[in-house]
Amino acid sequence: MKYIDEFRDPALARKLLTHIESRSTRPVRLMEFCGGHTHAIMRYGLRTLLPPTVDLRSGPGCPVCVTSNADLDRAIALAGVPGLILATFGDMVRVPGSVQSLQHAKAAGADVRMVYSTLDALKIARDNPARPVVFLGVGFETTAPTVAAAILQAAAQGLGNFSVLSLHKLTPPATRAILDAGEIALDGIIGPGHVTTVIGADAWQFLPAEYGMPVAVAGFEPLDILRAVADLVNMAEDRHPAVSNSYARSVTRQGNPAAIEVMDRVFEVGTADWRGLGVVPASGLGLRPEFVQFDAIHLFDVDPGPTREHKGCRCGDVLRGTITPPECPLFGRACTPARPIGPCMVSAEGACAAYYQFGRDLP
Ligand code: SF4
Repeated sequence: MKYIDEFRDPALARKLLTHIESRSTRPVRLMEFCGGHTHAIMRYGLRTLLPPTVDLRSGPGCPVCVTSNADLDRAIALAGVPGLILATFGDMVRVPGSVQSLQHAKAAGADVRMVYSTLDALKIARDNPARPVVFLGVGFETTAPTVAAAILQAAAQGLGNFSVLSLHKLTPPATRAILDAGEIALDGIIGPGHVTTVIGADAWQFLPAEYGMPVAVAGFEPLDILRAVADLVNMAEDRHPAVSNSYARSVTRQGNPAAIEVMDRVFEVGTADWRGLGVVPASGLGLRPEFVQFDAIHLFDVDPGPTREHKGCRCGDVLRGTITPPECPLFGRACTPARPIGPCMVSAEGACAAYYQFGRDLP
């Protein structure tokens, strides 16, 4: 298939659904790691089309959502440093921290700027040479290489006022943490398509090898996801866990070596604090010591104050897949996209936002 509408072909979708229905003899619970998949699943009504034996759960694959309140509070405290410009992607601005959001900080006078790429942040730094410019780096293996490239560019250009608060996270350790916790019984994982384009499908081999867990890497069109579900149902029924790749037009077994190389040059692996999962070893990316002059953690000594969680928000449970968004008592009542209480309702990749927008009638 060459064109995008071919990946939305209703006749082919019906064929895949018939196959899934005929093969699925026992209940399976599958987790779509990626928030982009949750949105596609809800947008195209795939939950309602699949047989009742297939239960789909969202996972922790929304970088804005998994940013902990402690890390967000640090970013908000940084925005309060006199003269400092904090640049970040749009969704982060609206996420409530312990006391306030970056949007509130901006309204109170902080210079918080929304950017579409790290190149925009570099430009802000070039245009304001007398002021420190911090880029709030949030994202997974898809975003991290672009931030690493920006740091290399800043180094090459001698841009001394540019730095990064790196809150980047790695996806395989988060999946491992969910499985190790044993809180939710899963029968398969829909692997994140964009992340796997970078890290390669082989990066998921540990799931079948160590956990007996099938993985199907998927793109973001309905047929991509249905094919992945079909693969997972087949593997669960045959009790033959493996890694399948239904996103071969983008994902290879080895991934993108250039992106991995630039990421490895700039970042080193360390612990990260995940909303919902807590501190997960070897799941974050901090700057290597040789790039310390670009590391906002070392450059600015700020006190974010005590961390508080939002009363009643069950984002952590949603991110671990132990509940679906409508099971949060605040969903659609106290918490809506217009007045979000938790990040899962703010972010364009948040599961609560997806369920609110496309499936409020679902159980
Ligand atoms: Fe949190 Fe709102 Fe989602 Fe409930 S509906 S888990 S309050 S973001």
